[in-house]
Amino acid sequence: MTFTISAEETRQVDKHEHGVGELNIAVEGSTIEFEFMIPGADIVGFEYVAKSDEDIAKINQALKTFDDYTNIFTIPSNSLCELNGQKVALKEDDEHDEHDDHDEHAEENHNEFYAKYSFECGNINAIKEVNFPYFATFTNSGELEVQFISNMGSTSFEVEGDEPSINTDGKI
Ligand SMILES: [Zn+2]
Repeated sequence: MTFTISAEETRQVDKHEHGVGELNIAVEGSTIEFEFMIPGADIVGFEYVAKSDEDIAKINQALKTFDDYTNIFTIPSNSLCELNGQKVALKEDDEHDEHDDHDEHAEENHNEFYAKYSFECGNINAIKEVNFPYFATFTNSGELEVQFISNMGSTSFEVEGDEPSINTDGKI
């Protein structure tokens, strides 16, 4: 039996920077995995706990938008990738409940959207670029910091809405 602690469980959501979403892309053999961690501020414009009907509707709409990954990113169709796993969640910062003596910390609430998508690809080398409709989908979005890892090595990218794609040619 092996135990793995995934990044989503160990990461503290209050460590994020508003305006900066994180994306890890990992390629292994014929599989490619996309894992997004994006501040709520960048998606719905707030991070307090949604209580009004309007705010709850915004959160639910955003989660629904993440449910269809093509709202967030696209990969070339000739790579023959098929989605075979997906997880979408809103992760709330519940840490402050344990630190009642730090009042100033308790007032600052953070949350973030977490989304993970796994694909099995018939021709993974055809992924020469990844495009990000993300920026058009979410008008509050800032930049995306992308960590790209394959057996060729690792690369990082900073992606913004004025040029919403990364070039992965030769990196897979
Ligand atoms: Zn925050």
